[in-house]
Amino acid sequence: MGPHKTMEYHSDLENVDEDGYTRLDFTSQGITRRPVVSTKGAQAASPPWRLIAVTLGILCLVTLVIAVVLGVLGIFSSLCPPKWIIHEKSCYLFSMSLESWQRSKIRCSQLGSNLLKIDSSKELDFIKSQVSSHPDHSFWIGLSRRQSEELWHWEDGSTFSSNLFQIRSTAIQENLPHNCGWIHVSSIYDQDCYVPSYSICEKLSK
Ligand code: MG
Repeated sequence: MGPHKTMEYHSDLENVDEDGYTRLDFTSQGITRRPVVSTKGAQAASPPWRLIAVTLGILCLVTLVIAVVLGVLGIFSSLCPPKWIIHEKSCYLFSMSLESWQRSKIRCSQLGSNLLKIDSSKELDFIKSQVSSHPDHSFWIGLSRRQSEELWHWEDGSTFSSNLFQIRSTAIQENLPHNCGWIHVSSIYDQDCYVPSYSICEKLSK
């Protein structure tokens, strides 16, 4: 090991001294050992561990199924907000605060709904059944007209047709405008829009 050999190895390995050969052997052994150890670890999965893994997997699956079922049940039970009554595809709120037709309309729109629109005889029967339990009160619905000579229309702008029911007149004098509709027990009447009354809001269920 003369000074000439030391110079040769200096170009490849920075910290090589006269014991350079011994160091290289240790490094190469370390590299070859490590993969052997890790391969052994992966192959040595014992049956108890597999059983635990499978059991945990089944538990996860069961939990997932339960969560999905509860989620679906939750969605069906909350098709309408609290205090709203569901019927067919709509949610109805029977408001027990006394307000004018205009104020009732605003209140419904603040709740993401409109004053009631009666589209079918089924809906009319449902509303009658609900309203008849309050014989001392009337409920504003989404019927109005601009002037006594004009046609009645619903809140969505559609014109009222008398196929399902008639609007009974309560105006005693012609000069008193009764341009808003309400339901009392089982009949719909025209009424002075400023009379404070209960009201019915309707919106589509989820
Ligand atoms: Mg309707």
